Amino acid sequence: MSVPFNNPLPIPVLGFCAYSGTGKTTLLKKLIPELNRRGLRLAVVKHAHHNFDVDIPGKDSYEMRKAGARQMLVASHVRWALMTEDPVEDAPELPHLLAQIEADKVDIVLVEGFKKLALPKVELHRAAHGKPFIHPHDEHIQAIACCDDTELPSDLRRLDINDVGQIADFVIEYANNWRPSTPSLPLAPECGCELDTSKTLSVRQGIDKILSYVTPVSATEEVAIDDSTDRVLAQDAISPVDVPQHTNSAMDGFAFAYSDPMLDSYTLVGDVMAGHSYQGTLNLGEAVRIMTGAPMPDGADTVQMKEMAEDSGDSVRFQGNIRLGQHVRQAGEDIAKEQTALSAGHRLKAAHQGMLASLGFGKLPVYRRPKVAVFSTGDEVCQPGEPLKPNCIYDSNRFTIKSMVKQLGCEVIDLGILEDNESALVDALQGAAQQADVVISSGGVSVGDADFIKLALAKVGQINFWRINMRPGRPLAFGQIGDSLFFGLPGNPVAVMVSFMQFVQPALRKLAGELEWAPTLVPAIADCTLRSRTGRTEFTRGVYHLGADGRLHVTSTGAQGSGMLSSMVKGNCLIVIAEKDEQLNVGDTVYIQPFADLL
Ligand code: AMP
Ligand code: MG
Repeated sequence: MSVPFNNPLPIPVLGFCAYSGTGKTTLLKKLIPELNRRGLRLAVVKHAHHNFDVDIPGKDSYEMRKAGARQMLVASHVRWALMTEDPVEDAPELPHLLAQIEADKVDIVLVEGFKKLALPKVELHRAAHGKPFIHPHDEHIQAIACCDDTELPSDLRRLDINDVGQIADFVIEYANNWRPSTPSLPLAPECGCELDTSKTLSVRQGIDKILSYVTPVSATEEVAIDDSTDRVLAQDAISPVDVPQHTNSAMDGFAFAYSDPMLDSYTLVGDVMAGHSYQGTLNLGEAVRIMTGAPMPDGADTVQMKEMAEDSGDSVRFQGNIRLGQHVRQAGEDIAKEQTALSAGHRLKAAHQGMLASLGFGKLPVYRRPKVAVFSTGDEVCQPGEPLKPNCIYDSNRFTIKSMVKQLGCEVIDLGILEDNESALVDALQGAAQQADVVISSGGVSVGDADFIKLALAKVGQINFWRINMRPGRPLAFGQIGDSLFFGLPGNPVAVMVSFMQFVQPALRKLAGELEWAPTLVPAIADCTLRSRTGRTEFTRGVYHLGADGRLHVTSTGAQGSGMLSSMVKGNCLIVIAEKDEQLNVGDTVYIQPFADLL
């Protein structure tokens, strides 16, 4: 009986279903203030079966709509309403309706009605009504709220229909556990079937193999919060305080004790500025002028903003509808005392540092920095700053690699440019592995390259030479020298950067103790034709921007030679053309991987 449902919003949607007469609206009218009191911001979508109207004949908005405006938006400083004439034959489409909700303004959408949709729901049931159950025919029922004496299948979550607090607990638990469904990403599928799996790997296979060799560092140290940028937190930071510390006003206005109905006028008994507090307890009928951030006086639970009040010196009158608890920030609503404010495994950036500082942390336990040795190979490769020898090129790879390594909070050991000579290389590799957790070289790993690099690597450790089905960056060497990991990146400068982003970055993040990192991949609309080959992942350098249509668009940086570092400079993302795609046309959706994580 159920019709599929795709939630278009980045927030949870939970339905309440029941036969009419069960008291759905009565319950929601009690549940909504209870959830508000607990800090959950709500939107409600209600299905009305009849030809309802929210406007009144004679109002301008009503008359203009009746005159033929298909959409009528009426707005004041407190509220706006959009009325749309959208006659459809059956029920309106819930995903379309949900798309109208402003997901940044609310935490969850409660839906009344739309019983037939495959939407997660709570069933409400009162045995006294003699109506059948809904859950035997609807696998999307998450819980049933009924009376004490109702018999239910034992595995269904049971709630007391007369206990609003318990139903609110369930909604909050549901919202906290909810996760948006992730679209299938272009890097996800294991290709492999048609390939020689010993040496030729898909990007995903390469990443998985590499990560299976990485053991995170365990040593920790304490650093001042100032020195913690890009370090990884080694222990959960437990908040020693409530944030905010006191229940306080979110507006400049008036604090008072809510009553229903509200009183006509309130006697003003004081002023509370930020950093001060009101000594004494407010009685019903009394109010204080209060500034944003100032603690709520005892006895007060609600704030009205000053723009919606008439202050006549000794007393104040309020305009508009007032909700219990409005414009009040509860003590601990951001972070509660004794709660984990930030769990171990987070890389510390400005926002983390600010939050931990706000809790009073002066020092933080972090994992030691991984040590990364970097060198270049090739007789043609010269040190920048020195005269260029004939037929030679300047070393750029060591500089892009070192910069990205530092960006990931690692310590760099620069081994310079190594001579194309086997015994020198063996010495250098063994020395590097003794000092570093990871050794990274560039050049000399392609088929037909001077063999001494491969010979040297074979002497010092176990190294695999892979062909990755990607462009740029097809050759990749990976293995172990002693206890260190070794990455032999390609020689071409763009290939080096792309291979680093795809393979070295996840390894260094895992090594550094970072948990749950995944590359940022976002969909964008192609503004140019993009070519690839089936079975190969193409990383085209692109520029993304926000289009006039409010969507992300991307275009290639132009010529894509794997030596052309200018394409990395011009670009702000990699356009990831999946293995399954051969050609993408203008208007197609592609995934992009912004550089911002690393460059
Ligand atoms: P290879 O894989 O060693 O044959 O190198 C492929 C290409 O990358 C050649 O054109 C090299 O000159 C170039 N290359 C190798 N190492 C570097 C480096 N450190 N900096 C810039 N280009 C390099
Ligand atoms: Mg070379």
